[in-house]
Amino acid sequence: MIDFTLTEDQLSLQEVARKFAEKEVKPKAAEIDRMADPRQAFDAEATRKACALGFHAMLVPEKWGGLGLTMNDFIIVIEELAAADIGFAMNLAVSCSVSKMIADNGTEAQAERWLRPYCDMRGDTHHLVAFGGTEPSGGTEIFCGDPDPRLGTRTTARADGGDYIINGAKCFITNTSRAELYGVLARTDKTKNNLVANSVFFFTPDTPGFSIGKIEDKMGHRGMSNGELIFDNMRLAKDDMIGAAGEGLPILMRCYHVNGVMTGALSIGLARAAYEMALNYARERVIWGQPIIGYQAISHLLVDMKMQIEAARLLTQRIAWATQYGIHDKGIHPAMGKVFASEMARKVTTDALQILGGSGYMKGFPAEKYVRDSMVTTIYDGANQVLRNFMAMDMFRTA
Ligand SMILES: Cc1cc2nc3c(=O)[nH]c(=O)nc-3n(C[C@H](O)[C@H](O)[C@H](O)COP(=O)(O)OP(=O)(O)OC[C@H]3O[C@@H](n4cnc5c(N)ncnc54)[C@H](O)[C@@H]3O)c2cc1C
Repeated sequence: MIDFTLTEDQLSLQEVARKFAEKEVKPKAAEIDRMADPRQAFDAEATRKACALGFHAMLVPEKWGGLGLTMNDFIIVIEELAAADIGFAMNLAVSCSVSKMIADNGTEAQAERWLRPYCDMRGDTHHLVAFGGTEPSGGTEIFCGDPDPRLGTRTTARADGGDYIINGAKCFITNTSRAELYGVLARTDKTKNNLVANSVFFFTPDTPGFSIGKIEDKMGHRGMSNGELIFDNMRLAKDDMIGAAGEGLPILMRCYHVNGVMTGALSIGLARAAYEMALNYARERVIWGQPIIGYQAISHLLVDMKMQIEAARLLTQRIAWATQYGIHDKGIHPAMGKVFASEMARKVTTDALQILGGSGYMKGFPAEKYVRDSMVTTIYDGANQVLRNFMAMDMFRTA
């Protein structure tokens, strides 16, 4: 029998995450959202407390100090954090996904070197990781499969003796300036097709030749830092590479499956918060002698919002399960959850604002924040147009 209920452990995890999000994250979300300087807009204290609970290391196996949770456990926590503030949630979600990339593809020695200190849960400080794939020449370009070797990733990693010299730049990278560890996708072979010519390296921000450029001022997700990573003859050892030379894009694609599940959960948390706000408002707002929820136009909108959220959650849970166990789930493409949930979040947040009427447009309610936050879910972790291309290629190609 298929069981759709959460286990006792999962219910406890959900309760811990929900209480934490309600107490530590939600009360400060509006204040951080309104901070003018994006370099200041960070809830360091709540992030430190989240790390003490292990929310940065949910996908790292216990043998290296992580929580060793499944993908289905992970999305329970991410949804709760995102319902409080999606930017806050994404800082941790990205860190979980990238630390899993190291756990899945690194050697034992690399995991000891990078993950052991990262997984520290003493609560003294926060621990975040960043990964630089996107470049000014296009986030989509790094996935280019054209045989012309001039196309694809522009950042290079030139072999020099036993080392690699990294040159180039990355942009829009989550956790820029706040991460203690950075990953980078770089071209190790400029003569081959981009798909087999990239490699993944990790380094700490004090590495000579690395610097941080512009920190972006964004429309939403304002508690999250996004910026430029600049590489000027940054020397890394062969041992700083995870996987083999040329395996960078397959490693990143596997990480994107995790990111798709993660963005699904982030979008669901955001949409749920918007729905709950709209539902409460509709019950309380009295117009022409009755609460507006009594008007069919409003109640049907709320029903549709709820249906869309539940559908996105089921799809995301199924893809999380398939990703966890490496199951090739025929008929459900891993990118479907991210595309569906992110577009659902845009629609649900917009409908929530409509239900609040003029009040939804004012800063007194978080409705306008939810709409701003939703706009980028269809862009990051694979723009939805490009993910549809991948789905079409995988599902309909005949050769
Ligand atoms: C808040 C935020 C956080 C981010 N965090 C990270 C991060 O941590 N690490 C990281 O590496 N990147 C990150 N990114 C970058 C993100 O992954 C890219 O923005 C995304 O991949 C799109 O790349 P681009 O912005 O360069 O758009 P482009 O690649 O320039 O594309 C522009 C438009 O054209 C469309 N398009 C491009 N190619 C095609 C095609 N073949 N067919 C149809 N349509 C196409 C795209 O869908 C898009 O709508 C982040 C971005 C944002 C906004």
